Amino acid sequence: MRTDQRRPASVGRVFASFAAIMLVVVAAMGVLLGTSLRSGAEDRALSAARVRAQIIAASAIEPALDGHPAAADLAPTTIRALTTVTDQLTAESQVLRLRVRSPQGRVVFSDDGSGFTGEIDDEALEAAEGHVEAHLTRLNADDDDTGAVGPRAVEVYEPLHAGGSVIGVLELYVPYAPIAAEVQAGYKRLYRDLTIGLVALYLVLLGLTLTTTRRLRQSARGNAYLADHDPLTDLPNRRAFLRDLDEVAQDATQDGGAVAVIDMARFKTVNDSLGHHNGDALLLALGVRLRAAAGRDDLLARLGGDEFGIVLPTVRDDATAERVLRRVLRELGAPLLLSGIAIEPEASAGFAMIGVDGADATALLRRADIALSTAKARGAGVVRFDPEQDHYDPERLAMVGELGRAMAMDELVLHFQPKVCLDTGALVGAEALLRWQHPRHGLLYPDAFLPLAEQTGLIDPLTEWVLDHALGQVRSLGLPKHARMSVNISARNLGQQQFATRVLDALGRRGIESSRLVLELTETAVFADVQRATAVLEELSAAGVAISLDDFGQGQTSIGHLANLHVRELKIDRAYVRDMLTDDRHAAIVRSLIELAHNLALTVVAEGIEDDETREALRELGCDEGQGYGLARPMPAAAMIEWIKRHEVEQALR
Ligand code: C2E
Ligand code: CA
Ligand code: CA
Repeated sequence: MRTDQRRPASVGRVFASFAAIMLVVVAAMGVLLGTSLRSGAEDRALSAARVRAQIIAASAIEPALDGHPAAADLAPTTIRALTTVTDQLTAESQVLRLRVRSPQGRVVFSDDGSGFTGEIDDEALEAAEGHVEAHLTRLNADDDDTGAVGPRAVEVYEPLHAGGSVIGVLELYVPYAPIAAEVQAGYKRLYRDLTIGLVALYLVLLGLTLTTTRRLRQSARGNAYLADHDPLTDLPNRRAFLRDLDEVAQDATQDGGAVAVIDMARFKTVNDSLGHHNGDALLLALGVRLRAAAGRDDLLARLGGDEFGIVLPTVRDDATAERVLRRVLRELGAPLLLSGIAIEPEASAGFAMIGVDGADATALLRRADIALSTAKARGAGVVRFDPEQDHYDPERLAMVGELGRAMAMDELVLHFQPKVCLDTGALVGAEALLRWQHPRHGLLYPDAFLPLAEQTGLIDPLTEWVLDHALGQVRSLGLPKHARMSVNISARNLGQQQFATRVLDALGRRGIESSRLVLELTETAVFADVQRATAVLEELSAAGVAISLDDFGQGQTSIGHLANLHVRELKIDRAYVRDMLTDDRHAAIVRSLIELAHNLALTVVAEGIEDDETREALRELGCDEGQGYGLARPMPAAAMIEWIKRHEVEQALR
């Protein structure tokens, strides 16, 4: 058994795009944190410089000033002390530049020894008022004269105090690089930790996404499975069945195949009397049996309720399909115990042949369903779809309307097939065979539309049309004087009011002697209602019309009836004639039918003679007349006229 499983939409792709999006987000986070850290590093460098300035102010400059305000007239001892401190600081590269300013911002001491310059700086003034500033600059940035740009430095102005009052301002240029390096060293670790953290975060997110997408995929698979399966039996449901059946039907490499619908009899009774619990148990058991009975390539489904579907893709003909299905029904029907009660499930099956009975899943299943109704009506068993059961086929319904019009629109034509004497080869008659020149479907043969006409009552006007036109052409075809025109009659026609009168009227209208008409009826037509048929046929034969029993050998004619039916001719069914040379049993049937006909003084005609050997064999058996492709195919009137002329010449030359 095959159960197709559809894959849910590619979950891998979903995962990949998730991973990419997360990578972008985490990277953006890293960049953001990195820049904010870097600006933090700058701030830290500035405040480190300020701390250094405070320390220098408190530990070196303020003691050097010794409580005197910084002014133009610094005592030489003070200058010396300041110079000593400054030299030491610059020597240690702690500062790049050191100036002492007065509380008014004027330079009173400078590391370059310039002494009092009187130059005022706003920043120094602000520092004296308590607004301490530190900012990043370059050593000679303010120095317009030098123009040269020095190393990066932090410029700090730090107020100098003594006894609680401001006695000056210390101006410092602290080298930036060493501080930054110190700060950076701290940050390097931070950066490393940050990077490790972010990578770890990314990996965790990745893992989370992977498990959720996996779970999603599983649940998508689960959903797809649930959507396609019947929860009770775990078999595919109708939806899945239709889809898979369509696939088989569309498969070009597929040849043949059948689809069947199986239905349990009296399931409702089990359900009602033993409870739903037992009803479910029965369905479950049937599902298991069906799986066991099905072949490896067969497709199964629970179509709903107590209906199961099965596709047999490997069967080639309806006989095999029927045999397989009978076996399946037998296996389903084995007794089983439900709540201690023995049940013998009984099932019916209807089937349709893929391609022959329909090309798509919906049509095929509908037709298998129609066949199932017939099977159920018969009690049980296996039934193949028969188009005649299908009254609701939209194509057929449309055709009914068109067929009604066809008669008026001159779309119907008659073809004629010669009937010859097997002994002399003389033309003894012609059979009129109906064709429908359909505007869209092309030339249609009777099989395609006659059953429809018979079901809808159109058959009466149709037969009247054929009778009228066939008789109308007896003369125009140039049929020899003694030759007859054979017209086929349907079973339904015999039920028509005054059928015999209508036939005789047609003969009268066309001015044809009744002895030149043969009416061909099938056995089944006659025996559908023997009494009625007998009455009609008696009237016709009394008037001189010959009655022929068509397709003889197929039905189950009681030989006793034959004598009373006013039949003049038997036509041996072409199924026996076709292979009488190779099939001994068929040859025996042909031989005995000929004998039977002769014993009853009936003319015997073999139809379906396809080759000279068969024709010769039949002649030797004493068969009177013959018809078939081997003698002449059915042909349109114009061709028939030519054929008759040619045939007459050939006969004369014999
Ligand atoms: P049928 O009465 O048995 O007609 C003979 C059928 O056998 C014709 O098929 C003919 O073409 C075919 N046939 C003739 N010789 C050979 C042969 O050597 N080999 C084979 N394989 N076939 C041969 P067609 O014309 O398709 O007609 C099919 C059936 O339709 C007829 O079977 C007849 O039952 C019915 N039918 C045809 N015309 C009419 C009609 O006007 N009214 C009614 N009621 N039935 C008709
Ligand atoms: Ca016939
Ligand atoms: Ca026939």
